[in-house]
Amino acid sequence: MRVTVFGTGYVGLVTGACLADVGHRVMCMDIDEGKIARLKAGEIPIHEPGLDTIVERNVKSGYLEFTTSHRDAVAHAELQIVAVGTPPDETGAADLQHVQAVAEAIGAHMTAPKIVVVKSTVPVGTCDKVAGRLAAVLGGRGSDIGFEVVSNPEFLKEGAAVGDFQRPDRIIVGTNSAHARAVMAELYEPFNRNHDRMVYMAPRSSELTKYAANAMLATRISFINEIANLAERLGADIEQVRRGIGSDPRIGYQFIYPGVGYGGSCFPKDVKALARTAREAGYGASLIEAVEAVNSRQKMKLFEKIAAHFGGEAALQGKTIAIWGLAFKPNTDDMREAPSRVLMEALWAAGAAVRAFDPVAGAETLRLYGERPGFELVQDKYSALDGADALAICTEWQQFRAPDFGEMALRLANRVIFDGRNLYSPERLRDDGWTYFSIGRATAF
Ligand code: NAD
Repeated sequence: MRVTVFGTGYVGLVTGACLADVGHRVMCMDIDEGKIARLKAGEIPIHEPGLDTIVERNVKSGYLEFTTSHRDAVAHAELQIVAVGTPPDETGAADLQHVQAVAEAIGAHMTAPKIVVVKSTVPVGTCDKVAGRLAAVLGGRGSDIGFEVVSNPEFLKEGAAVGDFQRPDRIIVGTNSAHARAVMAELYEPFNRNHDRMVYMAPRSSELTKYAANAMLATRISFINEIANLAERLGADIEQVRRGIGSDPRIGYQFIYPGVGYGGSCFPKDVKALARTAREAGYGASLIEAVEAVNSRQKMKLFEKIAAHFGGEAALQGKTIAIWGLAFKPNTDDMREAPSRVLMEALWAAGAAVRAFDPVAGAETLRLYGERPGFELVQDKYSALDGADALAICTEWQQFRAPDFGEMALRLANRVIFDGRNLYSPERLRDDGWTYFSIGRATAF
């Protein structure tokens, strides 16, 4: 099949590359000329394990092409997949300007019927709005070429995006059209061999499914963080509680890790957008609002612990805090809404300096904060510690799980760790003479 994908970010590039890899002829379009130039030169603008080889293979074979031309992108295929960003606007609602810009481009250039597939995460009713915009543009051209708009939300996880796309748990398709349904079945047939993963529903249900899934996962994280905060006050250990509740198959172990809050480009914006959608529908979604409120508070946890340890915020003036892990989670370079940003910004506001290391998010962090006084990025985890007053851990990269504590003790000015991901055994660190703060495990040893 021939397929066009608009947007070459985490979702669009993975979608385009994986569709090309099974034999579809894919054209990826982006308005970011720099990004398309890099892709054409064989560079992958994001860090996503396994993506580079798939892109390279399919560019070489001619199955994957890149363009900045709307005209070429629209002409390339009947299937037009929209995977552009839907960032939050200042009110927390999803900003649909990029989605609507693509709808306008399709409407302006199409000379044959199209199936427009909305893969971006969009509020309920957006497919109807896209159809309205397309109809208006076509009407303006005096054209009555047919089109259909299908909702097909994406559930891949950054850091494991290729595998998630190739082996999806389910493929949600929101359409009332038999033709669109048949075309979508053919598109995904190569990913649907082992068992039937296609779930067809109405577009509005499909749109809400994506928000419901992210809100549920975010709820589990805020829930365990709330219990962790309680555990600290009650002298309980959240890690024991986590294992205790996770063993119940109705609860399970996934997404109940306590920490410094969720970040990234999806959970924060999607939870906020869902709360906003609810308000617009005249419904106060108090649970969803609380999930967001608990998370914002949780992102300040490490800073509060650091300030309390040193004797208050004023005492942080002139201190240097080493930070391990900047990305919002391991295996990605995505810094959007990362908890590390909240910690660093609070430390700078208090007059402290930060010396940070991340295995892949360094470049993106430099782009964001390179000019900040009080910010230094280093190239290996131990160099971050040299002379620092304490270490704070924000991301649970594998390489932080079993470090050389002897080396760390030699480099740090004090044996103090603020662990936002509960990577270590408090007993072991206590026996080694460390002061160790973690999340939900009573007070420091
Ligand atoms: P991203 O910011 O990484 O990429 C978006 C791309 O769209 C950018 O390269 C941008 O230049 C391009 N773009 C903007 N306007 C355009 C236009 N008019 N025409 C062509 N390209 C245009 O975003 P992302 O993380 O890939 O997310 C895309 C969508 O998928 C969002 O709605 C997001 O919520 C959703 N989503 C993201 C993830 C994830 O893990 N990142 C997972 C599931 C769903």
